[in-house]
Amino acid sequence: MKKALITGIFGQDGSYLCEILANKGYEVHGIIKDPLSHNSQKIKNYLNFLGVSPHVHSVDLNSYEELKQVIIDIHPDEIYHLAAFHMSAEDNQLSKSIGEKYLFDYNVKSTSNLLCICYEHIRHVKFVAAGSCLMFDASDSLYQNEKTPFKSRSLYGLAKISENMLLTYYRNKGLHASTAILFNHESSRRSDNFVTKKIVKSLVAISKGEINSFTLGDLEVKKDWGWARDYAYGMYLIAQGIEPKDYVLSSGKGHTIRYFADIVSNQIGLVDWQKYVLIDENILTRRSYTVLLGDSSLARDELNWQHSMTLEQLVHAMVENELSGVLI
Ligand code: NDP
Repeated sequence: MKKALITGIFGQDGSYLCEILANKGYEVHGIIKDPLSHNSQKIKNYLNFLGVSPHVHSVDLNSYEELKQVIIDIHPDEIYHLAAFHMSAEDNQLSKSIGEKYLFDYNVKSTSNLLCICYEHIRHVKFVAAGSCLMFDASDSLYQNEKTPFKSRSLYGLAKISENMLLTYYRNKGLHASTAILFNHESSRRSDNFVTKKIVKSLVAISKGEINSFTLGDLEVKKDWGWARDYAYGMYLIAQGIEPKDYVLSSGKGHTIRYFADIVSNQIGLVDWQKYVLIDENILTRRSYTVLLGDSSLARDELNWQHSMTLEQLVHAMVENELSGVLI
């Protein structure tokens, strides 16, 4: 039986990956941060409800010795490193309380610890780290792919770039280490502070008369969105590759926030949804000037990676889930 270790297992992507691997017969282990956030706890309960109960280890990813012991004990065949502090464009509180410097230090050190432990103790392992389209958030390219030079103006993006450089270093020393460069991917498991989930949740609440308004930033910003489960499956495919390699996972289609909200409101029959929106200047000023559109031809050609949902189907599923409380 193969063993997999997922950091951030009760996050959106970690939970889909956990389901995928458990269904394939893996013994699945997860590293968590105790206590779990509200969203991660909700996802954990849902996995339990589905009968998926991974082995859970509470360990600080910044503690080399603790982490080493856990990894040596598990001796995984595959590691998926998904845990990261990150911030949504809407998340003022988080950026104030944690701070971008802490985010950079913590995320880079976690990845450095994991890679060094793998190199020292389990060199056979296949390691996949979650990168991000924000590694390109200052890029001039119309579409971004694996050949596009990384250029970022955010510390989150710079942390992901630094982690990718570390990963390349260990790959050159023989480790099967790859980065999945992930463009935005959504689902009902997204936490409430991300714009897609916020729109779905708020418009459904407005349609039920529970709230009167909510805040958004620039409605014309375009995003490259896909369904999170497809991206989790993409990471599994990357780990199965004979050669380690970085892959962009994206839809390649840009849609505005306005279009996303249009689909939601059509589905729930809410007329003139804009009148409930208050524009938040703080979110407006932090918009990215690069349109992030991923070119995932390499993943499609080499891994046969495919999308199983259109944006419209994804939004429909998110609305259905919001109405029924199920986290599909
Ligand atoms: P989530 O926030 O849903 O999941 C992250 C998980 O990691 C949460 O369960 C969180 O726990 C956990 N976590 C955070 N810090 C630690 C820590 N120090 N130790 C252990 N667990 C920790 O994010 P996603 O699943 O959406 O994203 C997965 C990865 O993909 C991340 O690295 C993210 O940066 C990257 N990514 C995601 C994109 C997207 O569109 N979703 C786009 C680009 C990149 P808790 O909730 O309890 O804090």
